Amino acid sequence: MSNFDFDLFVIGAGSGGVRASRVAASHGARVAVAEEHRVGGTCVIRGCVPKKLLVYGAHFAEDLKDARHFGWDVPDCKFDWDRLRDNVLAEVTRLEGLYGQTLDNHQVTLFKTRATIVGPQKVRLADGQEISAERILIATGGWPFVPEFPGSEHAITSNEVFHLDTLPKRVVIAGGGYIANEFAGIFNEFGSKVTIVNRGDTILRGYDEQIRDRLLQISMTKGIEFRFNAPFESIEKKEDGSLTVHLGNCDPIDADIVLVAAGRVPNTKGLGLEDVGLELDKEGAIKVGETNQSSVPSIYAVGDVTNRIQLTPVAIREGQAFADSVFGGKPTVVDYANVPSAVFSHPPIGAVGMTEAEARNKLGTVRVYTSDFRAMKNVLAGRNERALYKMIVNEATDQVVGLHMIGPDAPEILQAAAVAVKAGLTKADFDATVALHPSMAEELVLLK
Ligand code: NDP
Repeated sequence: MSNFDFDLFVIGAGSGGVRASRVAASHGARVAVAEEHRVGGTCVIRGCVPKKLLVYGAHFAEDLKDARHFGWDVPDCKFDWDRLRDNVLAEVTRLEGLYGQTLDNHQVTLFKTRATIVGPQKVRLADGQEISAERILIATGGWPFVPEFPGSEHAITSNEVFHLDTLPKRVVIAGGGYIANEFAGIFNEFGSKVTIVNRGDTILRGYDEQIRDRLLQISMTKGIEFRFNAPFESIEKKEDGSLTVHLGNCDPIDADIVLVAAGRVPNTKGLGLEDVGLELDKEGAIKVGETNQSSVPSIYAVGDVTNRIQLTPVAIREGQAFADSVFGGKPTVVDYANVPSAVFSHPPIGAVGMTEAEARNKLGTVRVYTSDFRAMKNVLAGRNERALYKMIVNEATDQVVGLHMIGPDAPEILQAAAVAVKAGLTKADFDATVALHPSMAEELVLLK
């Protein structure tokens, strides 16, 4: 028995923190976790989960229209934001309960309060109580970044967007990344007038150029407006509560809400990290090595607070690897190669591996195969929306090094195909697989 109150004290009960806590506990460690907001963290409470439910809710707008082409008499339907919002928030609360139960089932002690670090092996809770632990894991995640400009306090972020009292008629979204494109799709399907305002001329930096262009083109056809090279200058709040957004290089835009989606910053402020000499990078992220250990040997960090890849499944892997390595006697290092990702836009994007540009830079000669097609369902629905699948192959080895897709269910298809890319399969392996007909995914084995 050690002289510490706990073997492990985890700060933050989000995806990474909960996984690390319960796995460490299952390896026999005495574990405590502190959470100042709600158990579940960004993904469950104000991220992936409620967002995906809104995406489902939004997609009914198209499904109800398309159903008429499939023989259904669909009356004019009205959308009720309050009902969807409340159902989504109730589901979030249910999941929060399940996460709490998981901790409980593994005898993890939960402190529903803020914890800060006061020594390499000591934390202090908000009520002043000090707790010692042989090791500390920081899993405090990230927080939306809001650039400073006059009136920026009138903007909301993804933290607040799930709680809106009413459905806004006019939405301005700052940023051109994941959250901007996902919420542009959601609000547009609900009937709001949506304008994406981007400081540069590129949406979804990091995704394959052709796929990004396809999303831009489809989004514009659906009625989403874009302003490029348009920095935010100010937001003016009028007497009736509505907002006017003043931009550089563009006319002002009136809006009911302004959603800022300009990236997320690591949650390291006020944690006492500087006092114990823990090293941060210039973005404020905790610097860790491949074992998730920080510059202070007893303190580790996983997830968005380390700003490696800001994705839930990556944080979960890091939490698992930490617990298995430190408490389970199974040294594990997370492999960051070929991490699949998706944008739940309308239609969604799925991607794994190198983009065409990256592959050309790194490998020299590559073969690129594309399938540009209209999904069968879209044809009958009279929906002029084309899917695009793209495969990047290393010319020298025939290995598939990248897959990029936009179209219905692209993330669902991509997850399965990512196994093949991760396994290093070749174009010939894809060709040798018989098509599953009729499906959209069969395009992947029919690329010529
Ligand atoms: P992103 O990093 O995806 O996009 C940020 C956008 O904001 C970019 O267009 C960027 O422009 C712009 N931007 C950055 N700084 C400024 C600034 N100072 N002024 C104006 N514009 C700025 O961030 P999001 O907020 O959309 O999402 C945060 C993270 O959350 C993502 O990176 C992702 O890791 C995660 N996430 C994942 C999802 C998923 O997996 N489906 C869904 C939602 C979020 P530029 O391109 O010029 O840098």
